[in-house]
Amino acid sequence: MTAAIQFGSKIIDFRLEYSDRKSLGITVTPEMEVLVKAPTDTTMEKVKEKIRKKAPWILKQQSFFLSFQPKTTLRKFINGETHLYLGRQYRLQITIAKEESVKLKGKFIEVTASEKSRTKDLLNDWYLKHAQTKFHVIAAPLIDKFKKHKVEPSSIVLRNMQTRWGSCTPKGKIILNPELIKAPKGCIEYVIIHELCHLIHHDHTQKFLDLQTKEMKDWEKWKMKLEKLLA
Ligand SMILES: [Zn+2]
Repeated sequence: MTAAIQFGSKIIDFRLEYSDRKSLGITVTPEMEVLVKAPTDTTMEKVKEKIRKKAPWILKQQSFFLSFQPKTTLRKFINGETHLYLGRQYRLQITIAKEESVKLKGKFIEVTASEKSRTKDLLNDWYLKHAQTKFHVIAAPLIDKFKKHKVEPSSIVLRNMQTRWGSCTPKGKIILNPELIKAPKGCIEYVIIHELCHLIHHDHTQKFLDLQTKEMKDWEKWKMKLEKLLA
């Protein structure tokens, strides 16, 4: 069942599941959903009281995951429209010709397409190809840096994710959202470092944050940039 409480000016929605357990547990998923697991005899009153008590922590967790929410902006893929690559803005310039290509030239992304409707696919392929090479180049020195902690990702793969910039599997595979190629290098480094820290600490505890700060002093700046950039 779902319900909500008011905390200050904020509404906290939550999903409640009763189960055969002794104490009440609250988790915040990366999708920012609040999940409450309660012993079968807990009253709704009691559940709400617990959530109210934990509200500052819940809101902190939700804001933490917020930066991992790529916001898909509606693009029309028409001449003059701006598109981002590594944090810089480029204007789209479409030429119709048989031989298709995508090139960066000055402040322009020049797309040569056999027909106009191909522009979006060509550009997305180009982004994906660049994400594949750039992410590995950016990650290499960071992976080296983490060898002092005796951890190393098993692999780095790209996958389009609706709600996240990156994630890390229990087996140590780092998954990055190819959309990140639109962000500045510092943002990409931040997401990679964040996931590398997860090889050591699997949640967002203070220990995790301390490590992240040790490995990237100005991570908050890049997190904020990431939030703003694709908004
Ligand atoms: Zn994380």
